[in-house]
Amino acid sequence: MQQEVIIVGGGMVGLSLALMLAKTNIAVKLLEAISYPNYDDANLAPYHSSFDARNSALSRRSVQIYQELGIWDSLQQYATPILEVNITEEGSFGKARLIAAQEKVESFGQVIENAWLGRVLLSEVKKNPLIELIDGVQVTSLKQDEHLAYLEASKANKHLQFKSKLVIAADGRDSFCRKALGVGASVHDYDQVAIVTTVQTSKPHSHVGFERFSPLGPLALLPLPGEYRRSVVWPVPKGTEGEWLGDENDQHFLDALQKTYGDRAGKFEKTGRRFSFPLSQVLSEKQAIGRVVLMGNAAHTIHPVAGQGFNLCMRDAYVLTRYLKQQVIKNADLGEVAVLKEYEKSRLKDQQRVIKFCDSVVRGFSNQNPILKFVRNTGLMCFENIPGIKPLVANYAMGLKA
Ligand SMILES: Cc1cc2nc3c(=O)[nH]c(=O)nc-3n(C[C@H](O)[C@H](O)[C@H](O)COP(=O)(O)OP(=O)(O)OC[C@H]3O[C@@H](n4cnc5c(N)ncnc54)[C@H](O)[C@@H]3O)c2cc1C
Repeated sequence: MQQEVIIVGGGMVGLSLALMLAKTNIAVKLLEAISYPNYDDANLAPYHSSFDARNSALSRRSVQIYQELGIWDSLQQYATPILEVNITEEGSFGKARLIAAQEKVESFGQVIENAWLGRVLLSEVKKNPLIELIDGVQVTSLKQDEHLAYLEASKANKHLQFKSKLVIAADGRDSFCRKALGVGASVHDYDQVAIVTTVQTSKPHSHVGFERFSPLGPLALLPLPGEYRRSVVWPVPKGTEGEWLGDENDQHFLDALQKTYGDRAGKFEKTGRRFSFPLSQVLSEKQAIGRVVLMGNAAHTIHPVAGQGFNLCMRDAYVLTRYLKQQVIKNADLGEVAVLKEYEKSRLKDQQRVIKFCDSVVRGFSNQNPILKFVRNTGLMCFENIPGIKPLVANYAMGLKA
C-alpha cells in the first residue's frame, strides 16, 4: 500500500519538497496555515505571505533540481541568469570578480521573484494527483509514539486530526512543530532588518550581480527579468528601517543607493515599495526527531547575505527524498527513525559550511575598524589574484559541491 507523508507548511520549501516526493511516487498531504489566493485568473502574481516581495537567487543546483522536476520551463520565463558577480567595499580598494564564462559555466544561477516562484510551485502542486493540499489549516498539536506521528489542526473552527508514519515540518523560522516537540534552537539576532525592493537603473544590468559592503550593511543588487530592473536586499541596523520605508522616502532611498554604488549601475531612477525583514540566525538543535523531520527555515534560518538559505533547503529536501525513495523501493517504513537520523547526519557538513560562511561574512564585514578593513580588502585582492580559489568558491556558491 502507498504510504503518505504529511508536510506542515506550504512555503517555498514545503511546496518544492511536496513536488520532489510526488515525483518519487510518494503521496503527500500538505497542510498550510494561510489560505492561498486564487491565482487562476490573475495576470499578475499578487504577494502572499509565503511568497512575498523578495527575490531569490537560485543556485545552479536548485535550478537543476527544478529541471529534474520538469518545472524549470515554467519558471524560466520569470528568471534571469547571473553571468558575473562583483564584490567590493564602499570606500576601499579591494575588489573581486567572478565571471561565469571564465569558470566555464553557463551562469552562476538565476534570480526569480518569490511571488512568481510561489505561483508556479502552487499550480504544479494543485495539479499533482499525489498531493493533497489543505490550506487555511493551522496545526495546533504534534505528538508521536513508536508507530506514528499525530497532528491536530483547526480550519475555520473545525477540529481536524491527522496521523502519518512521517511528518516533515517546513513551518518556518518560528516553527510550531519544533516547539511542540520540545526541541531547542540557538538564536542569534543580527540586530539588522533587510530592506527589500526592486529598482530601475539607467544602465542595463547585463546580468551582473553586485555585492557591495557599505557601512550600513552588505548591499546586494541582482539582475531581474527586464533589462533595467534589479533586486535590492540591503540589511540595515534594526530601528533605522523607518528611514527607508514608505513612499515619502523614495528619493532618499534612491540617493542612498546612488551614493553607495556610484556610477556602476548608472542612475537609480525608480524604486518599488520597500519591505523589511528582521534578520536572525536560528539553528535547531535537532532535525530528525523520531518520526518528524524539520526542514527549511524550521531547521536552519540564516542571514541572506550570500543568497544561500533557500538553496541549502533545496539540497536538504533533495537528499531526504533520495533516502525516502530507498525506503519505497524496499517497501519499508518511511518514518524509520534510523534512516531519518542517517539523513540528518548526511546533511550536517554542507549545512555547517554554509551557515559558517554566511555568518562570518556578516560579522567580518560589519566592523569599520581601519585595520580590519585593510585585512578584508587584502583578502578580496587575494581572492581576485590567487589562481584556483575562484573555481572552488564558485562551485560552493552554485551548490555543486557539498
Ligand atoms: C531578505 C531575504 C532574502 C533572501 N534571499 C534569498 C536568496 O536570494 N536565495 C536563497 O537561497 N535564500 C534566500 N533567502 C532565504 C529564503 O527566503 C528562506 O530560506 C526560505 O524562504 C525558507 O522557506 P520556508 O518554506 O522554509 O519557510 P517559510 O517561507 O517561512 O514558510 C513556512 C510556511 O509554514 C506555514 N506555517 C507556519 N506555521 C504553521 C502551522 N502551525 N500550521 C500550518 N502551517 C504553518 C506558514 O504559513 C508558511 O507558509 C532570503 C531570506 C531573506 C530574509
